Parts: sequence; structure tokens; C-alpha cells
Amino acid sequence: MIDSLDTIQIDALPVGIVVIDVLSRKIVNINKAAQKLIGAEASEIIGHSCHKFICPAAEGKCPILDMGQSVDNAERQLLTSSGKLITILKTANKVTINGQMFLYEVLQDVTDPVNLRKQLQIQVAERTKELAEINSKLVREIKNHEKTELKLNELFTRYSMFFNNCNDGLTLIDFSGSIPPGKYIEVNKAFCQMVNYSREELLQLTPLDLTAPDMKDYALANTKLVLESEYAVLRFPNVYITKDGRRLDCEINASFVYLAGREVAVVVYRDISETKRLEQSLREAYESELQAHAEVEDQLNQRNYFMRALVHELKTLLTPLLASSEYLVSELSDSTLLGYARNMQNGAINLNNKIDDLMNLAKGEIGQLQIDPEYADIRKVIGDCIDYLQPQAQKMQKRIVLNFDGDIPLTLFDKTMIHQVVLNLLSNSLKFSRIGSEICVAALKSGDNIRVSVKDQGTGIPKGKQQGIFTPYYRIKTKRDRYGGLGLGLALSKMIVELHRGEIWFTSEYGHGSTFYFTLPIRSEWDEDTDNRG
Ligand code: ADP
Repeated sequence: MIDSLDTIQIDALPVGIVVIDVLSRKIVNINKAAQKLIGAEASEIIGHSCHKFICPAAEGKCPILDMGQSVDNAERQLLTSSGKLITILKTANKVTINGQMFLYEVLQDVTDPVNLRKQLQIQVAERTKELAEINSKLVREIKNHEKTELKLNELFTRYSMFFNNCNDGLTLIDFSGSIPPGKYIEVNKAFCQMVNYSREELLQLTPLDLTAPDMKDYALANTKLVLESEYAVLRFPNVYITKDGRRLDCEINASFVYLAGREVAVVVYRDISETKRLEQSLREAYESELQAHAEVEDQLNQRNYFMRALVHELKTLLTPLLASSEYLVSELSDSTLLGYARNMQNGAINLNNKIDDLMNLAKGEIGQLQIDPEYADIRKVIGDCIDYLQPQAQKMQKRIVLNFDGDIPLTLFDKTMIHQVVLNLLSNSLKFSRIGSEICVAALKSGDNIRVSVKDQGTGIPKGKQQGIFTPYYRIKTKRDRYGGLGLGLALSKMIVELHRGEIWFTSEYGHGSTFYFTLPIRSEWDEDTDNRG
């Protein structure tokens, strides 16, 4: 009955129908769609137990008949004849026909929708992953953007702070129309204060509007020159007229940049009015110094002229005295008269030397003292000086000791002048030392120099009086000025030694004696240009 009735009807249905006898659990009917799903003919299916045939559940474990589940459009597994499980949508109903109970199972292949769904799920998962990545990328970018914005803000704040708080005037000038430059694009506070205009007023003006009329051509020419030669930096002094009509001396320093597609000059203005004022007073001071110098030079020339005239006069008078005394010394035999004649001669010679000292010092002061160097032996010069002063030393009961230490090379020096130096030092030692004392003259090679020293056991020089001892006409005042002298010897000696590029100095202990030193560089060449400059 089931055959005849159901088969015709259920075959026409597009879903699989399987009819199972509840009692025997055997398949009693199956339609075409179900056969196709299972992959077997009706003859191969009908009569078989549904367990382990189309249903993967074991016998006695039927989800509907044994486990009490209701199956209503639920997703289940269908066991095909090839043993493969496919997902189906299953609805199972119990139906009683003529007192016999059947299970009507409606099977719908949902493999495709399931695959589709799975694919969709995969795609959705991938898309979600992609979106998550894009999202985290976006989050990162937003963060970076925020950082950049923060940095930009910081930079802008710094730039504005620098621009507005800079002590020098700062402006941005539109240079896109080249020369003459366009208007101010931006100005800082310092510049506003310098020119006494407000920012709003300045933004309506060009630099040329502010430039002093007498400086306009110069400023334009300068700008042109710099632009034509493509210098990176334009720098020149300029004068601006402030709003209140003052002239403002500025040094401007401009560089050129591209800002939003147009050429802009970044200009720094430094107020140099104070520098200019200082420059002016310096120039005036220099000019008055020059004038004073010229006056001093004039006075020195006059003094020199006077000195020459005086020296000439004195020497004219001295010459017959020298000649006569020399004649008397050579002719007289009477010892008393000879003594007087010698005194006369010594006095005349000393006077002659003093006149020479005076003359040389005057020459040295105006840079006219010339030296005439020759390759000579210092020992010879020192020996001559001692020979000359020996009689005087003996008379004064003082002993001159000579000490030449080691090998002393020859060197270039002016013999007459160095003779004068040694004589001055030796005369002073004789003059300022006690009867019976010893004076030691020494020479040695010290590095690149020859060092000469004259040591006495004399009065010494008090500490407080030592400074200025080489100054012309310097003399140490004593209660009883018994030594005499003009205070020229040491000043002249210093001049002569320094003309030789040597040094002169002394050490002295008051009450115990002094040692005077001087050096002469050891050399075999003399540069006329540098060495003879007095
Ligand atoms: P003066 O012709 O007066 O000696 P100097 O220039 O030679 O001129 O010396 C200047 C002064 O230095 C002297 O007046 C003296 O007071 C002091 N003086 C120079 N040499 C010695 C010395 N060896 N001992 C003590 N005093 C000295």
C-alpha cells in the first residue's frame, strides 16, 4: 500500500524522502532524490536497517526513536553508499498508517550551502583579519600622525618663540617679483620696536619704503649684485627711517628660501647705531692720538735737533781740551803736573763719553739709533773694558775678576755699542761697591745666546726702587748723593741690548750687591730690515 500510494507521490518531490518501519527499523520506501543523495538504487536500499546504512548512529542509539530527540530541520550527517558522510538538513516525523507506525525522514542536501557558508566564514574571517590589520595600521598611523602633529606644534611654538623673542629684528620679505623686493610677509616684535611701526603697518610696506632715501640706490645695487651672483647670503649695512623720523643704522643679513612656492628673503637686522657711535668716537680718538703722536714726534725732532746742536757745541769746546790734555800727558815729566794733566784728560774723556751717551739715547728714543754689527768676540770687548777701567779700580782699591766659562762662540754685534754697555755696567759696579770689594765679570754660552754678567758686592738696590731702573734719567735718591750720574747708562744699555734682540735684567739684594746680566743671540746673519729697526 505504501508502495503504490507513496512512491508515485514522493518521487515527484525535490527533497529526499526515506520511509522507515518503526518496529523493524527497516527502510520501506525511498524516493529518487534520496537515492541520489545516498548513491544507491531503491532495490539496494529498501529492506535494509537504517542504522549503519544511511544513519551513522549505532543500533539502539537512534536519536529519534531511542534517544527521544525531535528532528526538525536539523543539520545531520547522512552516510552514503560510498561510506562518505555528507551534511544534510533532516526533518523526521512519525506517521501512523493503518495502525502501523512509520518514520518519514525528509532529507535536504545542504552540502553546497554549507561549503558556501564555510567559504563565506573563511572569507569573513580573512576579511576580518585584514580589517583588523588595517585597523591596527590605521591606529598606528593615527598615533604617528598625532606624534608628527605634536612635533610640528612644538616646532611651530619654538619657531614662533624664537621669531618673536629674538633680540634682533627678523622679517620675511616676498621676493617672488625679484627686485625691488615685495612687501613684508612677517615681522617680529624686535623689528617693530626698532622701526617703531606696528606689525599691521609693516605688512603693508616694502623694505624700500623704510630705507633712508640716500641709501635706496645703494641697498638696491647691493641686493641686485648678490642676487645676480647667486650668493646664498646677502649682508650689508643699511639705514632705515623709523616711523618717528630717526635714522637707524642696521646691519642686515638675508638668506633666501622657498616658502609655499615663492621666493622669500629671511632677513635679520642688527642695530649697529651703538657700534657706529663707538666707531666714530674710536676714529676721533685715533685721530687725536695721531695728532698727539705727531706732536710728540715733532717735539722729539726738535729735542733731537737741539741735542745735536748742543752736542756739536760741547764737542767743539771739548776737542781742544782733549787734544791739549793728551799732549800734556805725553809731554809732561813733572809728576805733580802730570797728575793734573791726567785728571784733566780723564775728565775730558768722561765728559766726551757722557755726551755720546746723551746723543745715543736721544737717537734711540726716536728710533734713529743704528747698529753696525760685525762678527766679533765678546771676550775681547770685555777685556778692553777691564783694561780701560783697571787703573780706576786700582785707585778705588777694588778688584775686577774675569771668568769666561767654556767655549764662547763669535757672534754678530756692534762692538762699540756693546763696549759701551759693558763699560756702563762695570762703571756702576765700581761706583756702587765698597772699597776692597770684588767685581766679577763673566761670560758663557747659554742656549742660543751668549750671557754676560757683572757682579758686585756693593750697596745693592732696595726692592721698592728696582722698578724703573732702566728708564732714562732714573736715579735712586740717597741722603748723601755722593755717586753723581745722569741716570742714562742703564737706559742706553737696554736700548742697545734690545737692538741686538737680546735681553737685560738684574738681581739685587740691598746691602749685599747686585748682578746685572745681558744676552746676545748667537748668529751669523743680520737682517737689515728687521734687525736694524731701532
Ligand atoms: P747713573 O749714570 O746714574 O749711574 P744708570 O742708568 O747707570 O745711571 O743707573 C741708574 C741708577 O741705578 C743709579 O743711579 C743707581 O741708583 C742704580 N744702580 C745702577 N747700577 C747699580 C749697581 N751696580 N749697584 C747699585 N745701584 C745701581
